[in-house]
Amino acid sequence: MSPTLETPIEYLKGVGPQRGALLRSELEIHTYGDLLQLFPNRYIDRTRYYTINQLTQSPTEVQVIGKIVHLKTVQTGKTKSRLVATFIDDTGEMELVWFQGHKWIKENLKLNQPYVAFGRVAQYAGTPSMAHPELEALEEHQNSLRTAIQPVYPSTEKLANKGISNRALLKMMQQLFLETGGQFSETLPAYLMENLKLVSKREALWQIHFPKDQEGLLKAQFRLKFEELFFIQLQLITKNLVRKHKIKGMPFTQVGAHFNTFYTQHLPFPLTHAQKRVIKEIRNDLGSQAQMNRLLQGDVGSGKTIVAFMTMLLATDNGYQSCLMAPTEILAQQHYNSIQALAAPLGLQVELLTGSTKTAERNRLFAALADGSCSIVIGTHALLEDKVQFQNLGLSVIDEQHKFGVAQRSRLWQKNTVPPHILVMTATPIPRTLAMSLYGDLDISVIDELPAGRKPIQTVHRYDANRLKVWKFLKDEIAKGRQVYIVYPLIQESEKMDYKDLMDGYESISRDFPLPDYAISIVHGKMKPAEKEAEMQRFAQGKTQIMVATTVIEVGVNVPNASVMVIESAERFGLSQLHQLRGRVGRGAEQSYCILMTSHQLSQESKTRLETMCRTNDGFEIAEVDLKLRGPGDIMGTQQSGILNLQIADLVKDKDILQLARSYALELLKKDPTMERPEHQTLRAVFLALSRKKNIWNYIS
Ligand code: ADP
Ligand code: MG
Repeated sequence: MSPTLETPIEYLKGVGPQRGALLRSELEIHTYGDLLQLFPNRYIDRTRYYTINQLTQSPTEVQVIGKIVHLKTVQTGKTKSRLVATFIDDTGEMELVWFQGHKWIKENLKLNQPYVAFGRVAQYAGTPSMAHPELEALEEHQNSLRTAIQPVYPSTEKLANKGISNRALLKMMQQLFLETGGQFSETLPAYLMENLKLVSKREALWQIHFPKDQEGLLKAQFRLKFEELFFIQLQLITKNLVRKHKIKGMPFTQVGAHFNTFYTQHLPFPLTHAQKRVIKEIRNDLGSQAQMNRLLQGDVGSGKTIVAFMTMLLATDNGYQSCLMAPTEILAQQHYNSIQALAAPLGLQVELLTGSTKTAERNRLFAALADGSCSIVIGTHALLEDKVQFQNLGLSVIDEQHKFGVAQRSRLWQKNTVPPHILVMTATPIPRTLAMSLYGDLDISVIDELPAGRKPIQTVHRYDANRLKVWKFLKDEIAKGRQVYIVYPLIQESEKMDYKDLMDGYESISRDFPLPDYAISIVHGKMKPAEKEAEMQRFAQGKTQIMVATTVIEVGVNVPNASVMVIESAERFGLSQLHQLRGRVGRGAEQSYCILMTSHQLSQESKTRLETMCRTNDGFEIAEVDLKLRGPGDIMGTQQSGILNLQIADLVKDKDILQLARSYALELLKKDPTMERPEHQTLRAVFLALSRKKNIWNYIS
């Protein structure tokens, strides 16, 4: 029986049980199919052969034709030894060195036969040397299936030590093509292949492992990247559609008294177009039969709170309760303050539940939530406790969602038999490319407009040496009645040092801005929530002019009169953090400033971050730069999300392909949501098989 893609890997000639076990544990290769999907990390052009006398100038991997004239074992310790071969060609002599696998090499290498040695070259006492070279008999080299462009496969140290070198992997790949005949069936519909001029699956797999030339390789890569992203998008979009069909929401059919009264009589300011558009999108969701699962993206200060509040009013108008969950106590308190202010003219009672809510108050609140007399509650993780039981929770608003785990989110779900509508708000602008692949199963709304009258924040970079000038500037601003934030970094690993920096900073600021002319607040992670809150309140009420803080104020704090943000050691912050911090100012009508303080020693990456901050206020542009600098794995802790373990595509480099894959997937599912048409039979089978194997979306919602 000829092998299939499901055949266990140890059946491949040359693998066997031992190597099979290694491939499973190290590379998760269980079957022929898995091996076929082991795509090269990079390629080496092996068209060029070096002579030994050229080797000094070639520090990268090179290949040399020569022969071994001598082999010796050099004892380097009690149990350690290395095997050294003298390798010569017409121009000179070099050493080949092995620290492991001596026995195998001694038994298999032939003296005075032509070989191709391939590896990295080091120089020892004028003699070039290659450690653990790949060696191939010249004749075999010339006859091998391998072409000039050579793939380099992902590997691990363990594999390499156990003799599964890149060459061994290549041989396995050749064997796989031999045994299967390389007849892999097509996975994409014919019309799609034609439209996009894609090479066949067979051709692509062949070229990706044994590229003939650059052009063939590029076509193969394009095809396989497209396919990978296309199936992911099919999964995400299908999941979204299924949710809309299957998960019955609670239809909020009414736009009632609370919403209308607020909209016509109590709006504190005219809504921006973007806010109106988003509210309309939300109303459509809520009025439909399906559960809403919407991500609301809006840059800091874009006005997400009022959108959340008006969504809550829709819940209230339909007889449902709503909750808003924030990641920190300060933020929950702030939301509580602003939402209570918005709700007051409507006579609506708003409650707050955090870790520091007192027991008696807690019990009263639990009762009010259970009997439905409390219709809006704001809180922290405390909302997730089992004791919190709602009478009929209809809406959960979650702010700054990346600070919450998925498990936590789903605990809010479980508080009802019918899942409440979910609105996730984030001020972290997620680049569209990433949002599409991460949140493809959420609907996305974007507030892409700031309230009118805001002046763009002016951002400058200053060196520590210019501190006096900066202080003078702060004094001028304070004299105009403005307030100032001065922020110090807080990085978990060096918390103690950071705390010292903060305290030293606070002391010198107290000296430079003395009482009674200046009053200073300080907020940091070591304070009790109540103390923090009291300090925040003093600053918010204008009793202090300067707020010295660690990044605890990163999220959500709203003091419109504060117009200057000084960020100390700005080179130690990431771009998105800098942007979040800057968003604390520019909330009022006055010109606001952000001053990035650094020392003179800056890495190239820090320079790029600072330049980006000075150049633009656009959160999405900043997020794109951030994505380029850090790669998607680092953004918002997305590294845990399996979806980023792509086999061949790269979300940053291949965003155009992603876009293309998404639009084709959308179009296909619009025409044929269940993929039942004859031309989609194969696609459907592959899709189902893939979905069984990899539930790539589990981590979200
Ligand atoms: P964020 O999106 O960062 O949560 P907020 O909802 O806190 O933003 O709003 C930031 C500030 O802008 C608040 O002071 C809020 O009252 C104000 N604001 C929101 N929408 C508007 C608007 N349409 N016009 C004027 N000011 C607004
Ligand atoms: Mg906010």
